Amino acid sequence: MKKDYYSILGISKSATETEIKKAYRKIALKYHPDKNPNNKSAEAKFKEAAEAYDVLSNKEKREIYDRYGHEGLKGQAGYNARASDIQDIFENFGDIFGEGGFGSFFGGSRSQQRSYTKKGSDLRIVIKLTLAEIAKGTTKKIKIKRYSECKKCNGNGSKDGSALKVCNKCNGTGTVRKITNTMIGQFATESICHSCSGKGRIITSPCLSCGEQGIVPTEELIDINIPAGLQENAHLVMHKMGNYPIGGGVPGNLIINVEEIPHPILNRDGNNIYCELNISLIEACVGCEKEIATVTGKVKIKIKSGTQAGSILRLRGKGMPSDYGTGEQLVNIKVYIPQKLTKEEKEKLESLRNSENFKPKNLNSKRDSKSFFDHVKSMF
Ligand SMILES: [Zn+2]
Ligand SMILES: [Zn+2]
Repeated sequence: MKKDYYSILGISKSATETEIKKAYRKIALKYHPDKNPNNKSAEAKFKEAAEAYDVLSNKEKREIYDRYGHEGLKGQAGYNARASDIQDIFENFGDIFGEGGFGSFFGGSRSQQRSYTKKGSDLRIVIKLTLAEIAKGTTKKIKIKRYSECKKCNGNGSKDGSALKVCNKCNGTGTVRKITNTMIGQFATESICHSCSGKGRIITSPCLSCGEQGIVPTEELIDINIPAGLQENAHLVMHKMGNYPIGGGVPGNLIINVEEIPHPILNRDGNNIYCELNISLIEACVGCEKEIATVTGKVKIKIKSGTQAGSILRLRGKGMPSDYGTGEQLVNIKVYIPQKLTKEEKEKLESLRNSENFKPKNLNSKRDSKSFFDHVKSMF
């Protein structure tokens, strides 16, 4: 019996793309034929891992494998013939960690697989999150309505899941070939077989639960894990949580678009948070303590005496978390100048008019103030 691809790579069935790559890279480097000359068992292990990686790193093939095992991949792309040529694999070694994977290398005719790989439609939902939820990460319970596999017939639409016969129009391939003669030669076109709608099988006795569709509408309450620090306009994909296709196949994906609920005070730009804080003239002069909102709750900040209007306070670590560290919150200080004064207030201020300390000083040179202005402008 053939060994399970997941156990060959030493990973779980739910391994992510990155985990698969990592596991494969480790094994491939260990059993690399250059490192193990004339070692037949290393070579075998190397090939085995390459084959497992070829399948598990390809979304389509992995889905087939998960559903049908080794059996489902038979006839797929002539893997074995090519895999014996180790040189060939290594010429493509650079590729395998990139986007393309082994796809083109092992790419054979996919059309013969059409009846297996029918994929259901994707389901899209929007989740609205507060900045606090995005900052900390959260789990949302969401009710999704989708088409699921009919359990009575295992999604194939026939009574008890068994009353199927091979379509004789397409011999079970789901596709028909047509040769067209033109001025410049013959063309072969392949199209979906209409007799069986591309399924390759004809239902002789339909399933009583779902008609012939193989799908039933369902409502599920699912947990959606939102990782901390999600980028703006990010979307999450939950594989196989979309609609199940009519007549069997693999479900589509659930695509979750994350929308940010605007915060009344805080603005996000990448990993940084911006806000304004209005303080009074007195507070600017003698200093104060203020409470201010952050994405992780309110914090107290100290405003030093002599704080200038337009200065920026940096609250380190109060921005959004990311792989490159947590951003900061930048607080733009505004000083409120009273617009109405009583006679008494005016007199008190008048008494300070000629006070030496109240006379403006050139605190910044011309160049400094300009770069400061540009700095502020770029932030708001
Ligand atoms: Zn059914
Ligand atoms: Zn057919």
